[in-house]
Amino acid sequence: MNPVSYSIGVDLGGTNLRIAAVSPEGKIVEKIALETEVKEGRERVLNDMCSAIGELRRRMGGAPLSGIGIGVPGVINLETGMVFNSPNLPGWNDFPVRDEIERRLETRVFLENDANAAALGEKWVGAGKNVRGLCMLTLGTGIGGGLILDGRVWHGQVGMGAELGHMTIDPNGQLCACGNLGCIEAYASASAVLRMALAAIRVGRSAALMAAADEVGELTAEIVYIKAREGDRVAREIFEMVGRSLGVALSSLINIFNLPLYVLGGGMARGWDAFAPSLLAEVEKRSVVYRASSTRIERSALDTDAGLLGAAYLPVQAHSIAHPA
Ligand SMILES: [Zn+2]
Repeated sequence: MNPVSYSIGVDLGGTNLRIAAVSPEGKIVEKIALETEVKEGRERVLNDMCSAIGELRRRMGGAPLSGIGIGVPGVINLETGMVFNSPNLPGWNDFPVRDEIERRLETRVFLENDANAAALGEKWVGAGKNVRGLCMLTLGTGIGGGLILDGRVWHGQVGMGAELGHMTIDPNGQLCACGNLGCIEAYASASAVLRMALAAIRVGRSAALMAAADEVGELTAEIVYIKAREGDRVAREIFEMVGRSLGVALSSLINIFNLPLYVLGGGMARGWDAFAPSLLAEVEKRSVVYRASSTRIERSALDTDAGLLGAAYLPVQAHSIAHPA
């Protein structure tokens, strides 16, 4: 049975393109998951997205569509609806993505940075549904950040705020993809786990990781996590480094914002048990605000659906702000 009305959320990732019809209560009613054919070019990805949206609208029959929200991995200028600096979507820089999709679909489209969308999803129906403000870090290939203040995404001047993955935690540290040295992304992302594991293998420190890499052909952060759970010392040290680094970053964020909730999401958050003890110890040691107030630090409640649900909430929220109850 179809709901009275619905919105569509799109999670446009560098690897996966997921599109869902979502009820006004935040339940996924229909979902389509595709690969993002980034190598085939921008037109192909736009065509795939628009035809999947068309398919969902057909499946939803005559139910009224309240709008479409799209979470995009990259820095977005909300005034122009353009994407800047998206390493996951080569060829999309300076492209008027919002206007183009609105033109094709003849309906209003809301863009949002993917991590902001994930934070909004957690606020709507996830870990943060009972708080007014939260801060989220999405731990994937890179690290995204989202900040919800008084129920709304904090956008900064033109929509580029809360790039929390590029907080410096070591001024002379590892080179980050953004060009800075020592960003948290260079210590606590899946890419960082892989870099540390490969470095350990190179100097012959971990026979277990080397054997695992040989067995599957390609090492991943998930394999390093499995080895950490099995008790491999080097793999455990890597996840402790992840936890300490996140603890350093979260201590600053807690001291700055004094929010009730900090959420960790993205694929790497599944390694929670391997990094959380060192993370919590670090925050306890460093943050005076954490010691003096009640602050929750939790895993995402929505896992990989956070960004999809947050994107679907964009038109719902825009409507409720324009027409308060
Ligand atoms: Zn960076």
